[in-house]
Amino acid sequence: MNSCSPTGTLVPLPMRQPYEYVRQELREPDWRRFPGWKHVTEAQWRDAQWQRVSCVKNVRQLRAVMGDLLTERFYDDLAADQARLATMSMLVPPQMINTMVPENTGSPEEFTAAFYADPIRRYMIPVASDRDQAWPSHPHSARDSLHEAEMWVVEGLTHRYPTKVLAELLSTCPQYCGHCTRMDLVGNSTPQVDKHKLALKPVDRQDQMIDYLKRTPGVRDVVVSGGDVANVPWRQLESFLMRLLDIDTVRDIRLATKALAGLPQHWIQPTVIEGMERVARTARRRGVNLAIHTHVNHVQSVTPLVAEAARAMLEVGVRDVRNQGVLMRGVNADPKALLDLCFALQGEASILPYYFYMCDMIPNAEHWRVAVWEAQELQHAIMGYLPGYATPRIVCDVPYVGKRWVHQLAEYDRELGISYWTKNYRTGIELADPDALERRYSYYDPITTLPETGQRWWQRNNSP
Ligand code: SF4
Repeated sequence: MNSCSPTGTLVPLPMRQPYEYVRQELREPDWRRFPGWKHVTEAQWRDAQWQRVSCVKNVRQLRAVMGDLLTERFYDDLAADQARLATMSMLVPPQMINTMVPENTGSPEEFTAAFYADPIRRYMIPVASDRDQAWPSHPHSARDSLHEAEMWVVEGLTHRYPTKVLAELLSTCPQYCGHCTRMDLVGNSTPQVDKHKLALKPVDRQDQMIDYLKRTPGVRDVVVSGGDVANVPWRQLESFLMRLLDIDTVRDIRLATKALAGLPQHWIQPTVIEGMERVARTARRRGVNLAIHTHVNHVQSVTPLVAEAARAMLEVGVRDVRNQGVLMRGVNADPKALLDLCFALQGEASILPYYFYMCDMIPNAEHWRVAVWEAQELQHAIMGYLPGYATPRIVCDVPYVGKRWVHQLAEYDRELGISYWTKNYRTGIELADPDALERRYSYYDPITTLPETGQRWWQRNNSP
């Protein structure tokens, strides 16, 4: 393209970049725009307890907040989803609702349309019409699709990678995400999913975890998760972390909490900040890397309160706050959405963009999932904009394998949407399996992303 200079000569206009970075300041949307929170004060809003008791758990409570902003069509759609399709019960803190449709717009019809399209709404408050109507579930989808419970060495302690374990301390969170990969265990049962229950008392489960780690010195890295550690009473969590820090062979501890973004009010409570300071001081003294891993999927979630919570943790000595988002169609599966989010995390909230996981193959998740080739294209599209250390990897968590970068597949049948993956270590259940490292492990693209011939094959061989 050319333009005319003042002297009349043609000069080439610079080409635009596929993504144009523009710094955006974080902003807390005004919650008083919702009829149900018209009189909620700033002090109430910053109060973790107020946030917890004011969570929206059902259609009636959503109606109490939104009033006439939403039309009946949305409430009916939500009720239909809860009755027939939802794998997670509803639990949405006000903080998260306030990030949906940050500017109220127009008539109830216009607001409802904006609410339907909202990226946070799409994964926190799924409705029946969102779901893939032809293939709501992939034929190979499964509860506990990552087989974590199969790899428990004691209840709640998954030993999948050689040097790392995942400690599930509890099965609840302050918020329930529609796409939760632990839908088998986490949250309350829904009409579709009768949840498994942890059987041991928390204190006995924690004792058994600590015992296992003491007698397994090859494990050096513990992801302390759940559910969400923000739901573990602070004294109990601190005591567990201090016991972990007493084990010489544990060198990395990572706390998993979506609440840092979903309920940042939890992480700025004095009890939590002071307690975390004690834990971080001990970790530093013993040379252990203590980090927080959170789960943010869209730039709208990154508000000043989220940045405040992350910085509070860094200031007391947590080494890093990192983000592990989930890649989802309709939420963030395009380069601009991913880069906007990463720049807000990295530049404005001191949270390191770390991973985006492909959405796991759980039931009724096909409308969120993207194909591996789409994930590869997204990885390509986001390279080169962020600092290298803050450029997130998009990973596929392959059943019985673990995380693989999306370009690492061994073979890919694009027609049937089946990718094949290999691995270089045995999971805890394959220690005596001579073929584990020779085998190929499959992952499946959503059927609606396949060419006609592939879709017909699945129809012939696996009716939905
Ligand atoms: S916060 Fe994590 S564990 Fe809890 S519902 Fe969401 S995805 Fe699942």
